[in-house]
Amino acid sequence: CGISARIGEEGSLGPLLTSIKNLEYRGYDSAGVAIRNGDGVEIKKCGGEVAQLESAVSAGMTDGSIGIGHTRWSTHGPPTDENAHPHTDCHGRVAVVHNGIIENHAALREGLRGRGHEFTSDTDTEVIPHLIEERLEDGHDPETAFRSAVDQLEGSYAVAMVLGDEPAIYAARSGSPLVVGVGDSEHFLASDVPAFLEFTDRVVYLEDDDVVVLTTDGYRVTDGAGDPVVRPVETVDWTP
Ligand code: GLU
Repeated sequence: CGISARIGEEGSLGPLLTSIKNLEYRGYDSAGVAIRNGDGVEIKKCGGEVAQLESAVSAGMTDGSIGIGHTRWSTHGPPTDENAHPHTDCHGRVAVVHNGIIENHAALREGLRGRGHEFTSDTDTEVIPHLIEERLEDGHDPETAFRSAVDQLEGSYAVAMVLGDEPAIYAARSGSPLVVGVGDSEHFLASDVPAFLEFTDRVVYLEDDDVVVLTTDGYRVTDGAGDPVVRPVETVDWTP
């Protein structure tokens, strides 16, 4: 299982599919991508091989410079198309990929259902976009909304989000790995370095409770308390 994300000047679809394939070695039963294009977020996802996702994508998907991708190893719900990531909120504004397990998903889901949210999958993950949506609707900015949703999660996670109406990628980790790939005019996020080694060998290892925001200009990391932190950029000497 793995997550990946990419922001750059050119289209992200090709690099994202490459990075998802590079993560196949971790094991998976489903795959998916979300691309931010002019109209919002477009998602393609399916149970099965990355090859199936590739045919779904080549059947018609608009490219864009910002996207997230996922290979799923099911823990909550069978490997169906509906349960594949990315998952969205009620309005398709928020798209999220997640590795790990949300231990308190049942209680969170019950609360969200009581407040009118409807769910389309069996996953623990799907509570995350709905929690973010609530915070956005409360008027919070995207980073605050993301952080406040993530603060409610118990368990282990690496999670990444794109929004239809904001040119950035938001991500956090707690108990699951997450690394930033620093390029010249593009940036990556992934569960592991091999995901993006074709594109860059400069890597930032995030720590537990870090939140990172990637924009076209760069990236910034804040720690669990919300304070800015500098994590060292390391150059890895790995052969792709
Ligand atoms: N728990 C999530 C699910 O079952 C994520 C699994 C994973 O790490 O791929 O969908």
